This record gives sequence, structure tokens and C-alpha cells, in this order.
Amino acid sequence: MSDPIRLALVGMGKIANDQHYPALTSDADFDLVACVDRDGSCLAHLPYFVTIQELAESGLTVDAVAICTPPQVRHDIAQFALEQGWHVLLEKPPGATLAEVVALRETAQDRGLALLASWHSRFAPCVDQAREWLAGREIKSGRIVWREDVRVWHPRQHWIWEPGGFGVFDPGINALSIATHILPDPMFVEQSELFFPGNCSAPIAAQVRFRDRKGALIAMDLDFRQEGKQSWDIVIETAGGTLTLSNGGADISTTGAPPPPRDDVLPGEYSALYRRFAELVRNSSCDVDVRPLRLVADAFLCGRITRVDDFIE
Ligand code: NAP
Repeated sequence: MSDPIRLALVGMGKIANDQHYPALTSDADFDLVACVDRDGSCLAHLPYFVTIQELAESGLTVDAVAICTPPQVRHDIAQFALEQGWHVLLEKPPGATLAEVVALRETAQDRGLALLASWHSRFAPCVDQAREWLAGREIKSGRIVWREDVRVWHPRQHWIWEPGGFGVFDPGINALSIATHILPDPMFVEQSELFFPGNCSAPIAAQVRFRDRKGALIAMDLDFRQEGKQSWDIVIETAGGTLTLSNGGADISTTGAPPPPRDDVLPGEYSALYRRFAELVRNSSCDVDVRPLRLVADAFLCGRITRVDDFIE
């Protein structure tokens, strides 16, 4: 086996601590060597730096970084990392704009470095089964319902309400990362209504209507104001039955033919993500699928804006 990839985590917030740290520390392909965080949140046993520039100046040997900051600041950190010759994993969404993500891909390709725009939801347990079941079937319509309580899942994340923070599309883009992966045809935004609280620069809810290339309508309902039962569900009607992918891709049910069998020793989403990143690093290649981000950008481009009550956390 090759030497472990020496990786630094940048942006030690919720996702870095909840998912990246446990996935990395149980993965023999990686050696977590440092963390970077502007306010001193760090893991006690690791070298800690306030900025990525300080990390570079320290002389510590690093092969790769995983950038877990909010999207608005991700490009500059990633560009700097690539200029150091480091491979880069970008948390989702891969950037605040499409242009900056495409520019990063060009930099990585020019320098022969790995770049992964990570879509963790694609590694949920039943997503590949759904993709397999839908392959070759005629899609009649679809419905995506992603309704969650922002106060529970994004406490004190002020960046989410700022320009480039995506608002309800921060979780909504996970649904689109699954939809673009499992649906056999590309889909396009046909109509979009965005609900902005008076005091926020990002939507708290959205109703988006997509149409796929063959004309099937896919309706998406996103809402951050959901209390009680949370919904992360995708239902696809086909000529040969209905597929329901629920709980963010953790569960599947179908009418008509049963879903294909599942490999029961699947790794967790972030372990699978790091497995993919290790593969890319070993081959110095890029996996930068911008389709989910492109659909979000189009929903904003075409969006009719409705003002709703201020959001008070
Ligand atoms: P978070 O808890 O707010 O953490 C973000 C971290 O980045 C904080 O430590 C923050 O430091 C740091 N940061 C902010 N600006 C920075 C800068 N300019 N330079 C360096 N560090 C900076 O947010 P999160 O929930 O972890 O989300 C981060 C990203 O992960 C988002 O893109 C989100 O979509 C994605 N994600 C989140 C989840 C989830 O369940 N939370 C799941 C999957 C993916 P301060 O504390 O000083 O602000």
C-alpha cells in the first residue's frame, strides 16, 4: 500500500468535527496532520494554524487539504492550496459561484492535481440502487421535498443567510446532487419562486419546477421553516412503477419491480467520499460535477422573489 496522504482540515466547524474528523481518523489512506481555523477551534493533539498561508509558511509537509469553510471563502483558500501543489477536496457546495469552481478545475488540471467537488449525499446507502432502478425507465414525473428546521440543523450559521450562502439551497443542493445522479436525463429549471425573509440575503424556502429533456415535470419543495417531522424525500413516477428515495437516500421503496439488491457492507457517506478522494489523489485527477450547482444558479437566475417575515433565530 502507498504512504498515507497527509491532509489538513480547513474550517473546523460542524461538518469538519461531525463527519470529516471521524472519517479521516478511521481511514488508513489518510494521515490528518493539521487543522486551520480562524478562531482557534482545533483538535488539541494537532498542529493548528489560523490561516492556510500560515500552514504553508510552517514548512509542515502536506499533500492535500479538505476545505470545510462556508462556500463564500472557499475559492481563495482552494486556489492558494493548489498553488502549493496540494490536492483539494471541496465541501459542498463547491463554491459560491460556478465560474470560480470551473476556474479551480482548470488550475487543478493544469497542475496535475486532484480536485474533488464532494457531493456526500450521493454516497447515501440507497442512491446507487435508485440510479440502477431508474436506468432505462420512462420518467413520468418527480417530486423532491426537502423540508428541515434551520434552527436545528444550522444553528448560528449566519453565513447561510448572506449572499453566496445559498439559504435553503444549502441542503437543497444535496437533493439536486442525488437527482442529477439518479435521473437518466438532464433536467432544466422551468420556473422558480424564492422566498426571502426581509432581513436575509438568501431564501428561506423555494418552489422550483424542473422539466427533463423528455418533458417530465419534476417539482421541488424546499423549506427551512419545517418543525416536527423533517422531510428529505424524492419520489419518481415512471411508466413501470414508482420509486421513493427517503431520508436523504437512506431508504428506498418501489412499486412494480423491486429495487436491486444492496451491498450491505457500505461505508458511511464521508468514508466513501474519502475513499473517492484517495483514488483521485493517487491518479492526480479531478471529479468536479457542477450540475447541482448549475441548477441552483439557474433557480436564482429565473427566480421570482417573494418577501416573507424576517427570520429571527
Ligand atoms: P460551520 O459550522 O459554520 O463551520 C464553518 C467553519 O468555517 C467555521 O469553523 C468557521 O469559523 C470557518 N470559517 C468561516 N470563514 C472562514 C474563513 N474565511 N477562513 C477560515 N475559516 C473560516 O458550517 P458547517 O455546517 O460546518 O458547514 C460548512 C460547509 O459544509 C458548508 O458549505 C455546508 O454546506 C457543508 N456541509 C454542512 C453539513 C452540516 O450538516 N452542517 C453537512 C454537509 C456539508 P468561525 O467559527 O470563526 O466562523
